[in-house]
Amino acid sequence: MTQEKGTISIHTENIFPIIKKFLYSDHEIFLRELVSNAVDAVQKAKRLATLGQLGQELGAPLVQVKLDKEAKTITISDNGIGMTAEEIKKYINQIAFSGAEDFLAKFKDAKDANEIIGQFGLGFYSAFMVAEKVEIQTLSYQPDAEPARWENDGSTTFEISEGVRKERGTDVILYVNEENKEFLEEHRLQEILDKYAKFLPVPVQFGTRTESEPDGEDEEGKPKYKSVEVPNTINTTAPIWTKAPSELKDEDYLNFYRELYPFSEDPLFWIHLNVDYPFNLTGVLYFPKIKNDIELQRNKIKLFSRQVFITDEVKDIVPEFLMLLHGVIDSPDIPLNVSRSFLQADGNVKKINTYITKKVADKLAELFKNDRKNYQEKWNDIGIFVKYGSISEPKFWEKAKDFVLLTNTKKEFYTLNEYHDKAKENQTDKDGNVIYLYTVNADRQDGYIQAAQKKGYDVLLMDSPLDNHFISHLERDLEKTQIKRVDADVLEKLIDKGEEITSSLSEEQSKELKEIFAKAITKPGMEVAVENLSAEGMPVTVTMDEFMRRMKDMAAMGGGGMMGMYGQMPDRYKVAVNANHPLATKILAETNPETRSALAHQAFDLALLAQGMLTGADLTAFVERSTKLI
Ligand code: ADP
Repeated sequence: MTQEKGTISIHTENIFPIIKKFLYSDHEIFLRELVSNAVDAVQKAKRLATLGQLGQELGAPLVQVKLDKEAKTITISDNGIGMTAEEIKKYINQIAFSGAEDFLAKFKDAKDANEIIGQFGLGFYSAFMVAEKVEIQTLSYQPDAEPARWENDGSTTFEISEGVRKERGTDVILYVNEENKEFLEEHRLQEILDKYAKFLPVPVQFGTRTESEPDGEDEEGKPKYKSVEVPNTINTTAPIWTKAPSELKDEDYLNFYRELYPFSEDPLFWIHLNVDYPFNLTGVLYFPKIKNDIELQRNKIKLFSRQVFITDEVKDIVPEFLMLLHGVIDSPDIPLNVSRSFLQADGNVKKINTYITKKVADKLAELFKNDRKNYQEKWNDIGIFVKYGSISEPKFWEKAKDFVLLTNTKKEFYTLNEYHDKAKENQTDKDGNVIYLYTVNADRQDGYIQAAQKKGYDVLLMDSPLDNHFISHLERDLEKTQIKRVDADVLEKLIDKGEEITSSLSEEQSKELKEIFAKAITKPGMEVAVENLSAEGMPVTVTMDEFMRRMKDMAAMGGGGMMGMYGQMPDRYKVAVNANHPLATKILAETNPETRSALAHQAFDLALLAQGMLTGADLTAFVERSTKLI
């Protein structure tokens, strides 16, 4: 073979300085690209062998990464199809990109190396991000092929000559430059391979590990062992997402989860994704046990393309509410190397999003239908996904209506329909609205809850951080239904059935009672009203209007604009004094103005106490006054 020199066909003066200079961020991906190329070459050889077209023994498919610290080289070897000199010229020398102008225009905006490499087919050239010289030694599978060698030192001139490889396959040898000597450390390469190559479909070997091997027998006839260094295979070539669900047991899914997320608690359940039309996607998504801190759990889904790890930022591929899931998605159809905005507009990505949402909804529906008891037991964890999804994805909500659960203070579970039927009976107001009552803190609001239950009302427990939004969402969706916190008004008004309760006080007495209370209460933001309530109810009730409180809650959670305005308004409460309670008559009958005032104050403080609002100096004063009264 004659030696040949030539020019790499690109139209820019020199592409390498650009690659080196502008793509500084993700240097480590050179190894992903080269190992992927090696894997592809091996896969191609396998395919040819299957078709009977390889014309020789396939041998055991293998990719090896070798580090030579002395020589400062990293070599990626494979026993794939290899290349002829002609193929090198065709595939390596002619960098596949549409034109220099285009390239230069695009790289200016490129955020990372991924974008450029993908768009311009520069996988192989990523080697120049870390190497001052790259050499290829290769032997093609084709009959009578001769070994070929290619070398390039980062300039636009290459050299092709006779090679030394005796076996089919390719070595890519990187002469690592000074700035990138970190990649000459074994642990660094190991780290990169662990990240990108752990599930590649062809065995990848790097380094060695010690194994013990039988070594004859000792004098007493017992077997002897010796330690030997064997090449270390770093990957699992057939991870579970590539298998059919019917081949897998629960234990396989759990083991895979433990491998991906060591030290995590086992997941609640999982979904095996498998679709080949209209796009290709496989994967396993796990529902983890949710800890309180939702934020910390994000970015736990790993995105692969044909078993090559790409990223764990799957924000645009997976619906927002499913970002809390863990696991793996593998799709060759996701454009991996393009910008975010492009990804968001991409049709396949949208379809994938819809598909995953549907799959997750179907799985939840199935779990609910097949084993409601188990589903309810897990509701504490599942509920967060379901509520989050219901609020944020209309398509999910359509399905979730059947399996979203409401829980009450008695720890009973209801579907939306079940609950509506239950509440309709006893909690319909005079205008035909069904009123759901809820508490955010069953302990603190126990007084209100018990009072409601005495009237035969049910109280929902809405104590998760999302419930605030979920309540508004539900209300928008349910017809003629209102949802009110159990302390949003006096019971008679929470569910106003239009029953007139006659007053045991005259108008005069009512006015007088109101004045006594208004004077006795010095706490700001308290508006006294004397109301005709049931004699069995509380003498005084402190409530905050449902609408007002929700606005304040939302403002506290960071709503701007109008919300911010609500946030700045001082708290306003209604102090409902029960005209029909015996205490009302008692206070009016008291002639000593001081005792009167003290009684009113006492009743008010008791109401605050019931609401958990009596604290600090007010509480101390209450205790002192109580002692005196006794
Ligand atoms: P891409 O992989 O996107 O096609 P690359 O620049 O990484 O772009 O590689 C260009 C081409 O060079 C490949 O498509 C393949 O034909 C050839 N090639 C690269 N590495 C190898 C290898 N290890 N064995 C055989 N062919 C290879």
